Amino acid sequence: MDTVSYKAPAKINLALNVVRKRADNYHEVRMVMVSIGLYDELTLSRIKGSDIVLESDALGIPLNEDNLIYKAAALIKNKCGTIEGVKITLKKNIPVAAGLAGGSTDAAATLKGMNELFDLGLSQKELRDLGVKLGADVPYCIMGGTALSEGIGEVLTPLKKMPECGILIAKPGIGVSTGYVYNAYDSLEEKYHPDVDAMIKAVENGDINLIADNLGNSLEGVTVKEHPVIGSIKEEMLKAGALGSLMSGSGPTVFGLFNDREEAQYAAGIIKDTGLAKDIAVAGPV
Ligand code: ATP
Repeated sequence: MDTVSYKAPAKINLALNVVRKRADNYHEVRMVMVSIGLYDELTLSRIKGSDIVLESDALGIPLNEDNLIYKAAALIKNKCGTIEGVKITLKKNIPVAAGLAGGSTDAAATLKGMNELFDLGLSQKELRDLGVKLGADVPYCIMGGTALSEGIGEVLTPLKKMPECGILIAKPGIGVSTGYVYNAYDSLEEKYHPDVDAMIKAVENGDINLIADNLGNSLEGVTVKEHPVIGSIKEEMLKAGALGSLMSGSGPTVFGLFNDREEAQYAAGIIKDTGLAKDIAVAGPV
C-alpha cells in the first residue's frame, strides 16, 4: 500500500467535569465525548528517504515540527525504529482552537494512518498509549464514537451511540487557549461540577431530552466570563429552538442539540443572521 486516506472527526463534550488538579499538575477529568460528522481529511503517502513532509491549505496552524500531525508521525517513527519517509496532506475543515479537538483528531488519524501505511501491527491500545503523550483528547480520538473519558484522558469506556439528532456548531471569531482556561479555572474559589453520571444514564437511555437537560461543562463559566459572546450564542440557540446548548471543551465553540438536522439547519440561518459566529456547521453524531 502506498497511500491511505482518513476522515478525522471533530468531537463535542456533552459533559466535562474537571475533577481535580493532581500533584503532577495534570487535570483529572470525566468527560462524555461524541464524535460528530465534521471532518478534517488526511492523506498519507510513502515517499523516498526518511522525511516527514506536511502539506496543507490550513491557515492559522503551524505547518512545521510544532504541528500535532508532525509530532504524531515522529513519535511513531521513533517507537518503531526506521520507517520510510511519509508525505501527509491535510485538508482542514474543523475550526482551529475551538474546543472541537481539531489537532487531537489529526494526531489520532496520523497514528492510525502510519500504522496502516507501514503495516506496523500496533494494537489500538498501543496507539492510545502513544497518543496520550500528544494530548489528553488523542486516545479518545483514536477510539472515536460516544465514550466516557477519565483520568487524564487515557481511561476510556465506550458508551451507547448518542441518538440521532441535529447538532449545530457555532464558533465566534476568537480562539481560546486551553492552557489559559484551565489556569483560570484552577484559581476559581467555587468550581462547577456537572453530573456526569446523569449524562451517562441519559446517553445509555438514548433520551435526547434528558441529554439536553444534563449538559454541563466545568470550564464554561471561565471562558464565558472572558468572552461574553459565547453566552449570547447560547441564548440565541435556545431561542432558535435548541433542546439544550453548551460550550464544547475549553471553548469558544458553542453547540446546540435539536431533534433533527432540519431544525438545526433552520436555527443555523438564525444564528448566521445574528452575526455572532464566524464558523457555523450542522452535523450529527458519528
Ligand atoms: P481541544 O478541544 O483538544 O482542546 P481545540 O479544538 O481547542 O482542541 P485545536 O484546534 O486542536 O484546539 O488547536 C489548538 C492549537 O494546536 C492551535 O492553536 C494550533 O496552533 C495547534 N495545532 C498543532 N497542530 C494542529 C493541527 N493539526 N490542527 C489544529 N491545531 C493544531
